[in-house]
Amino acid sequence: MSDGRALAREFLEQQRLLGGDAVILPDGPPPRADGRSGGQADGNTPSRSAGPVVRPSAAATDLPRPGISYDPPGGDLFSNDPVPQAVSLEAIAQLVAGCTKCRLCEGRRHTVPGEGAAAARLVVVGEGPGRVEDETGRPFVGPAGELLTKILGAIELPRERVFICNVVKCRPPENRLPQFDEIAACVPYLFRQIDIVKPSVILAMGGTAAQTLLNTKQSLGALRNFVHRFRGIPLIVTYHPAALLRNPNWKKPTWDDVRIARRLIG
Ligand code: SF4
Repeated sequence: MSDGRALAREFLEQQRLLGGDAVILPDGPPPRADGRSGGQADGNTPSRSAGPVVRPSAAATDLPRPGISYDPPGGDLFSNDPVPQAVSLEAIAQLVAGCTKCRLCEGRRHTVPGEGAAAARLVVVGEGPGRVEDETGRPFVGPAGELLTKILGAIELPRERVFICNVVKCRPPENRLPQFDEIAACVPYLFRQIDIVKPSVILAMGGTAAQTLLNTKQSLGALRNFVHRFRGIPLIVTYHPAALLRNPNWKKPTWDDVRIARRLIG
């Protein structure tokens, strides 16, 4: 009982954080099967608290229409480039650890290749490491990472069952946007990670991730509400958790987006 109540409390908290659908907690006990009101009307039935009732959303019933399909060429397996030949996420991480292909290597404390399950059904892609990520070598930690963990929990995907990474693997100075040449140098690692994991769905969080994975300059707002494809894998675009911390009004649309991603995972 207490576990159930704790789970319900956690679920309601996630709903509140994500700006999700209204949750109705009836005052009284649940109705009886015979249509009479529940509770102790007959003097024998013990009182029970009712579970939360979630009002279904229209957004949860229909999938968005198809969007952009991007199928970048794979690396040349016969070249000397080790990235397309890397056979595991660990091999990619080792290559990233020694990478000096762009200027972002100069100020980094740690590379942040990504972490999570090699057999993940969902790959989450953000922009680049921030200060805490650079200090720890882990993606999506700190307040934005905690929010991402809550978002994943809300769609019943524990963080450890997801692969989480960024477009660039080293921290841009002062958290500026990664520049075009830095993204171009780093993106083969991301593409190879996706090839290795072979997820059912990709969740692109923020404009940099969406534009890189779809090879477009369209705004994040224009890219939301479509089921795009990256090498045939469904890709959903939504806001970056750091942006949600700055603008809580985006939590509700993000909640809608991640539920679409969850439905596509099956
Ligand atoms: S950001 Fe990417 S390409 Fe640039 S040094 Fe780091 S790992 Fe290499």
